[in-house]
Amino acid sequence: MVQDCVFCKILAGELPADFVFRNGRIAVFKDIRPHAPVHLLVVPEKHIRSVNDIRPEDGNLLAEMLFVAKETAKTAGVAESGYKLLFNVERGGGQVIFHLHLHILGGFQGI
Ligand code: 5GP
Ligand code: ZN
Repeated sequence: MVQDCVFCKILAGELPADFVFRNGRIAVFKDIRPHAPVHLLVVPEKHIRSVNDIRPEDGNLLAEMLFVAKETAKTAGVAESGYKLLFNVERGGGQVIFHLHLHILGGFQGI
């Protein structure tokens, strides 16, 4: 756990979150300020700052994040209509929480 990391605090139970999945390696919870009708965050329990800090040994974890994302999209009812998967990378890429997370965005109107 990294001090002053909001997502580490959520994963440690020190801050609340609306979890929809958790398996000990990966958690999925609802974004607090959703940018789409369905906006979920796929978050590894391991603190990795950003995509820039992914190491070769994180390969299985990254693959599982993708797998969990598509399963979660199915459960959330957006798999067929479609959804976006997004990593913001560092400040210039719009990242504000420096604990790796994959956005699931779906349920857009008119689809
Ligand atoms: P980033 O811009 O770093 O890729 O995305 C961070 C996301 O985390 C934002 O969409 C923001 O709304 C969300 N977020 C920030 N703080 C919290 C929080 O305390 N709880 C939850 N559930 N989401 C948060
Ligand atoms: Zn963290």
